[in-house]
Amino acid sequence: MKNEPTMLPEAPASATAKMTSPAGIEWMVTLRDLSASGLLKKINRLEDELLGAGWTSATASNVGSDANAPAADGTPVCPVHRVPMKRSKFNGWYCSQRDSAGNYCKEEVKN
Ligand SMILES: [Zn+2]
Repeated sequence: MKNEPTMLPEAPASATAKMTSPAGIEWMVTLRDLSASGLLKKINRLEDELLGAGWTSATASNVGSDANAPAADGTPVCPVHRVPMKRSKFNGWYCSQRDSAGNYCKEEVKN
């Protein structure tokens, strides 16, 4: 084939950021574009919008991929619900979320 294009088509680009909403909910925000330069424009625009609306970066304060890793302030996070656990009256921590049947989450951390 002599007619191959000399320019490679640009590979689709994507970027994912972990953001925390003003309500404290963590979101994985993924942006896609057909080019890196287009993606960068989208990132800049979204950053302005989110930060202007009070969102913060979740990755800055919560480094690491282990869902069981305690948050920066030492509060454990429920591996099922990804929410900070509550201090138990007894020892350790419990998750205050309920499942669809109304039963409390069974995740707990002893300390
Ligand atoms: Zn839970």
